[in-house]
Amino acid sequence: MKRVYLDHSATTPVRPEVVEEMMKYLTDNWGNPSSVYSRGREARKGIDEAREKIAHLLGANPQEIIFTSGGTEADNYAVMGAAFANQKKGKHIITTSIEHHAVLDTCKFLERQGFEVTFLPVTPEGIVRVEDFERALRQDTILVSVMHVNNEVGTIQPVEEIGRVCREKGIIFHVDAVQSFGKIPVNVDELNADLLSISAHKIYGPKGVGCLYIRKGTKVQKLFYGGAQERRRRPGTENVAGIVGFGKAAELAIKEMGEETEKLTKLRDKLIAGLQEKISDIKLNGDPVQRICNNVNVSFKYVEGESLLLSLDMKGIEASSGSACTSGSLDPSHVLTAMGVPFEFIHGSVRMTLGRDNTEEDIDYVLEVFPEIVDRLREMSPLYNK
Ligand SMILES: *Cc1c(COP(=O)(O)O)cnc(C)c1O
Repeated sequence: MKRVYLDHSATTPVRPEVVEEMMKYLTDNWGNPSSVYSRGREARKGIDEAREKIAHLLGANPQEIIFTSGGTEADNYAVMGAAFANQKKGKHIITTSIEHHAVLDTCKFLERQGFEVTFLPVTPEGIVRVEDFERALRQDTILVSVMHVNNEVGTIQPVEEIGRVCREKGIIFHVDAVQSFGKIPVNVDELNADLLSISAHKIYGPKGVGCLYIRKGTKVQKLFYGGAQERRRRPGTENVAGIVGFGKAAELAIKEMGEETEKLTKLRDKLIAGLQEKISDIKLNGDPVQRICNNVNVSFKYVEGESLLLSLDMKGIEASSGSACTSGSLDPSHVLTAMGVPFEFIHGSVRMTLGRDNTEEDIDYVLEVFPEIVDRLREMSPLYNK
């Protein structure tokens, strides 16, 4: 059976070039990077080179990059670390209602610790309004955290403008760039970011590794204690092979970004147009224009999302109902809820996120089987009458 992977926002396959680089650090160069002898120094060199590459790609200095266990840890570190280190100045935080749970749940934890958090609303298209952000600002606002690209509906947020205001007011600005890095330009100065998270496994690198950019001078309290690694900011023996793979994946992603974006945009638009043409009572979630190149998120009336995913799976199509974290629960997505997606549509949503191995033929196949599946599910729905 044909298999089409359409869940690249959940994770991506590790590229062979990345595996090759990593293998060197799992076999020959397996030393502890903190050791003084040459086997240790070889491992250290792998980390240093990866750090230089990633710093360069973000427009940062290598000393400003802290490797973490992934996007989730980077987000936790940024939000919790900035909040705790700056709480004498104030206890107000601004974020959005459509953040990844790594930011959202950390903010909810901070509320229980006595911080006050404003969760900004979004437009029906899933975009934060800069006016709403400006209205939410207070004297005691110490931190603003806004994602660059939403992982469920692919909307690109006005982070440059928000960052500019934060910079003027001296408020720390964190950007979750996990879904944007490698697809659109991410430069810490252009975004006015003080803190910025990225993750390797969303860019064809390994799982369990990512980084937090911390602008020089930004006060952030560390989360872990125990060693001198990462300039004492993130102790623990480094995931050397993972970090090296992350560096390689980042380098390749940026090198190929232009052609890849162009290709994915074409496939995305073909898939959206095809579904809209062949299926009635369909709604595209998110903004049609201010949208990342690989995201298709659509809802169908009279269809239950989970059934749709299972039916697609039986045809070899791997998609998701929003975020990997929400799958498995029957609660509607917090992102679609924040966007005010109408009740009839909210339970029948599916996210398809394209990647570098997808082809025109994949899209043709999806467009061939999708309408039949929706028809069959609708036939079974008590709400549907033709
Ligand atoms: C995947 C993702 C994360 C979490 O990254 P992990 O490396 O899987 O922990 C955080 N934010 C966004 C927007 C994501 O898509």
